[in-house]
Amino acid sequence: MAPEKSPGTAEPLLVVAGLEKRFGHTQVLRGIDLEVHRGETLGVIGPSGSGKSTLLRCVNRLVDYEGGGVWLDGRLLGQELHRGRRRKLPHRRLAAQRRAVGMVFQHFHLFENHTVLGNLCLAPQLVHKRSRAETEAHARELLTRVGLADKADRYPSQLSGGQQQRVAIARALTMRPDLLLFDEPTSALDPETVGEVLAVMRDLADSGMTMVVVTHEIGFVREAADRIAVMDDGRIIELGAPSQVLDTPAHERTRRFLRRLA
Ligand code: ADP
Ligand code: MG
Repeated sequence: MAPEKSPGTAEPLLVVAGLEKRFGHTQVLRGIDLEVHRGETLGVIGPSGSGKSTLLRCVNRLVDYEGGGVWLDGRLLGQELHRGRRRKLPHRRLAAQRRAVGMVFQHFHLFENHTVLGNLCLAPQLVHKRSRAETEAHARELLTRVGLADKADRYPSQLSGGQQQRVAIARALTMRPDLLLFDEPTSALDPETVGEVLAVMRDLADSGMTMVVVTHEIGFVREAADRIAVMDDGRIIELGAPSQVLDTPAHERTRRFLRRLA
């Protein structure tokens, strides 16, 4: 049984160890081991169906898993030791843990009937019980950071895809997450708006945010990621510095995948 404290002493922010996930009879994650240190950006690449989204969803506890564990800041996510046995965390504490992890999706998932500012203020007002003025000031600060200060009163449908995704990123930041997960954040965008979203992500990475980024944008991970993991059929088949993984891949499967993207 996995211990409640993460293994190892270096204390990375995120530790994934022996993670296994099945959907029915389909084994989707076959023992994932991964560490992400504070301030690090990890790029995750790999063919469609290899388990990238499922890995992110397990880290964010959007789905349960069958084996192994996920530790954030040394704490086992979603479970606790009680009288020597692992048990599920009560819902409220699970929700609190989940807030430490922000997620940005391919399809922005904005609230269409709220303004941009409303999208940013909704969750923090419910959760943090901060004053409206304080929440709003923080939201406007974040909108400035993603270059959308002048769009606070617009509705999502009035914005381009790239602008909507920048709102979604700002919204994730309102909860002051320790870790930010991105699941193909630019895959649904018109090509001309991809760059502005990647620029915001690059800026975040440079500012010391800890990020796991699933993407097909090889140029982005080459430039912005500290390390890249390659997933294939539920496993991480390769993990290393961008130049190592992209220029001298050790696996034929990695080479094949990169050739297909080129
Ligand atoms: P990727 O993000 O790398 O494309 P996914 O994590 O979405 O891969 O999917 C990995 C595998 O798990 C695929 O074979 C997919 O069909 C399967 N899968 C994902 N989500 C579900 C689900 N909710 N129910 C059943 N199978 C799923
Ligand atoms: Mg996916």
